[in-house]
Amino acid sequence: MHVEPKRDYYEVLEVPRDADAKTIKRAFLKKARTLHPDVNKEPDAEERFKEVNEAYAVLSDDQKRANYDRYGDPNGPAGFGSDYVDVSDIFGGGGFGFGDIFDSFFGGGAGRAGAQARTRGRDMGIRLTVTLEEAAAGCKKTVAYTRLAPCEDCGGTGAAEGGRAHACERCHGTGRVVEVQRTIFGQMQTQATCPVCHGQGQVIDHPCETCEGQGRAPSREKVEVQVPAGVHSGQTITVSGKGEAGVRGDASGDLVVSIEVAESDRFERRGDDLYCTVRVDALQAIVGTTVVLDGIMEGERVTVEVPAGCQFGQQVVVERKGMPRMGMIARGNLVAVVQVETPRDLTKKQLLDVAAIVAERALDEGAAAERDARPEPTSEEEAEGFSAAAENAAEHFAKERWHAPKNPFRSRK
Ligand SMILES: [Zn+2]
Ligand SMILES: [Zn+2]
Repeated sequence: MHVEPKRDYYEVLEVPRDADAKTIKRAFLKKARTLHPDVNKEPDAEERFKEVNEAYAVLSDDQKRANYDRYGDPNGPAGFGSDYVDVSDIFGGGGFGFGDIFDSFFGGGAGRAGAQARTRGRDMGIRLTVTLEEAAAGCKKTVAYTRLAPCEDCGGTGAAEGGRAHACERCHGTGRVVEVQRTIFGQMQTQATCPVCHGQGQVIDHPCETCEGQGRAPSREKVEVQVPAGVHSGQTITVSGKGEAGVRGDASGDLVVSIEVAESDRFERRGDDLYCTVRVDALQAIVGTTVVLDGIMEGERVTVEVPAGCQFGQQVVVERKGMPRMGMIARGNLVAVVQVETPRDLTKKQLLDVAAIVAERALDEGAAAERDARPEPTSEEEAEGFSAAAENAAEHFAKERWHAPKNPFRSRK
């Protein structure tokens, strides 16, 4: 769009700037008579006739003339000093895209990106709890939540039936206008949000009642989430485009799923290692044993080799039977913490056998102690006497315990 600069109204009527109303009227009538299309057949006569008419319309009106004299515009400062100008009019037709020039003027992406940022849906957060077993194997979970989804009644357009969304005429759908201000230093340009569409770039004729022209409405939704094997509490999974819908079909935000791994009864997780407790009885602890337990993976059996002489609280490490390391084939370790329990279900014979061992050990210790105390070797008689005493003690011990009235060993398993 190209407009010739307007000629000065006084020049058009060929009157001095201080001409009075009568002079102006006379000048106008004289010009009008010679330029009237009915009498003047020159090609530019009509244009010049309109020009004369416009000049007279302004200069014959005291207020408009005063404004024109002072501000150069018959409508005064409001109509002159500040105006919204379509940026495409300013930059258009220059042979390069609107986006390019806008970006270069306002520092990269401020044009369309800026308009989109206003109407794009927000990201949403949701928490998802999985069991330790699910975290180990990885799983698919369906989460239900409420979000602003594209409105079903209007298909996200925001317009009611028969209504129509169309690009804002003021800003040509960009959501932005450039404000041009004339100052004594020349023209200054600043960008501003379009006052007509409030930056949305679109105007709706008849807004949808369900969504009030927003193109989105609350909706109960389900989404499937793929939880990776080895996930840790606090990690997030982003489901693209499942957050809030954008305004009138604009891009949706994302759904950010925060994973919570529940505690397990069987294992305690430390990093990617799994700790568990295995119980062995004291006799097994003495000679060593093998314990087989269910692993974290479904159907997995883990063999824990408890070494001979294992102590209470001793840790037995089974490599690569812990949690999978996320995104890798590798796994952490399983650490079995051994708890030694005293067996209470020994038969009488077993108990006597153990008692005999205890007595024997006591004898050995007694002999050793005596050896330490007395440098001379123990006499045979003395040794025999000691041994008999130990045997009695063992038998007494076994009897006493075994015939204890309530038999706590059997009942308190
Ligand atoms: Zn709607
Ligand atoms: Zn607009």
